[in-house]
Amino acid sequence: MDLNIRGKVAVVTASSRGLGKATAEALAAEGVNLAICSRDEAAINRTAGAIKEKYQVEVLAEVCDVKDRSGIENFKDKVIRHFSTCHILFANAGGPAPGKVEQFSEEDFREALDLNLFSAINLVTAFLPFMKQQKWGRILASTSISVKQPIPTLALSNVSRAGVVAFIKSLSREIASLNVTANTLAPGFIMTERVENLLENQAENQGITYDEALANIIDTIPAKRIAAPEDFGALCAFLASEWASYITGETILIDGGMYRGLM
Ligand code: NAD
Repeated sequence: MDLNIRGKVAVVTASSRGLGKATAEALAAEGVNLAICSRDEAAINRTAGAIKEKYQVEVLAEVCDVKDRSGIENFKDKVIRHFSTCHILFANAGGPAPGKVEQFSEEDFREALDLNLFSAINLVTAFLPFMKQQKWGRILASTSISVKQPIPTLALSNVSRAGVVAFIKSLSREIASLNVTANTLAPGFIMTERVENLLENQAENQGITYDEALANIIDTIPAKRIAAPEDFGALCAFLASEWASYITGETILIDGGMYRGLM
């Protein structure tokens, strides 16, 4: 199926590896030109080089810490100078540190909000005007299954991501008539470096091996596997496509059936 987005421009943040990189690759495979960023110049340039070589699309790679509003402004200026517009935004960031509610200070919660909530707000604020003007846009925000079912050991993530859902849902209703959709992605477990680190932490804390920690997680997933980053990238590419123009304001789980609630 041709997703009919060849030649469009996508901004994919926090994309030197993991879910951001997988989304960038899935869009590049559809002929979408990319602006990607992360905090590490060598890492983002490596990813850009690999994507350019494999998919023959244009890739602008920049250093940007999405926690920093002026960094996002600066990144936006470079994207617009290079591509003149943005059609697709995948607002993604790293994840906050693991731990329980009582372990964290007010400052820790504020930092997590900067990383996961204000980065999404600032990225949307930067790129939405171009989507509205051209009456075509796709906004995707990355969160976690924790927005539906809080994860006991990820208090900062639980708290900071809930606002993203409220922001995207509220926004989606304001922009739907302009052919700009806004949806939230809520992954369960997708095998990236972050999940590998979480498994290493769990193994250490519980005095078990990495493979035992992995088996414990898989046991909680009805699909009996952890997804590959490509599974996530494919979902994002579809939601960014011409054919997803009537899907908006949704929080879409990709979790192998792990969420236990009804809605
Ligand atoms: P990852 O750690 O493998 O990759 C994170 C990427 O973000 C890296 O490229 C890193 O350089 C970049 N990054 C981190 N902080 C940044 C910042 N402040 N500014 C710019 N770039 C930054 O993580 P991932 O698994 O790809 O996860 C991406 C997001 O999705 C995270 O917020 C994570 O918590 C969330 N998430 C992931 C899963 C999963 O199963 N992988 C599940 C639920 C939620």
